Amino acid sequence: MASPPSSIRLREAELRGLLAELMKGEPVRLDDSSKPPWFEPGIVCEVDESIYAHFHSTSFWKNDIAFASGARFGPLRLFWRNGDAYFGRELTPAETLRFIQLNLGDNIQEARSRITCRDTGRIRLACIHCDTGDYDGVNEIPADWVDVDEFQSYEQSLDEVTPDDPTRSPTEWYTHLGVCPECQRTHGR
Ligand SMILES: [Zn+2]
Repeated sequence: MASPPSSIRLREAELRGLLAELMKGEPVRLDDSSKPPWFEPGIVCEVDESIYAHFHSTSFWKNDIAFASGARFGPLRLFWRNGDAYFGRELTPAETLRFIQLNLGDNIQEARSRITCRDTGRIRLACIHCDTGDYDGVNEIPADWVDVDEFQSYEQSLDEVTPDDPTRSPTEWYTHLGVCPECQRTHGR
């Protein structure tokens, strides 16, 4: 049954209130050596345009204010821009729950999977051909993936990559690279 318009308006107002709350706070600059670890939950980080663009390419939700990015089992991150400045914030489990309830209706199961599966798996599997994030944080390599190789350790994958580091890229978030079942069909092995 469709929600009546008044309840949609209420939800929209609540969402805007939550976004305003999440976007508040003194931003920590990415190049500030005194900052807490990169994307500490609940901390607003000022990021550069390439990081913003990277997460934008994997966003699954957006409105006119902000967008959200995150793998199925990973933490949710919210990004927004203000003129030439770009910001990101990793949501805490409580914030994630509120955000998902407002955006996906009352799909608590989805919300819970994002929270309880966080940091459980030390395998962060990426596909060579596509940008699937569904296997970021699993405990074993799925049997239907092929040509999977270890790229770096879990600890290395969590290491912050500064934008001026010529040896590493912020897009190399994974521990393992392979070919997902979908891409085996479209690209061959
Ligand atoms: Zn793929």
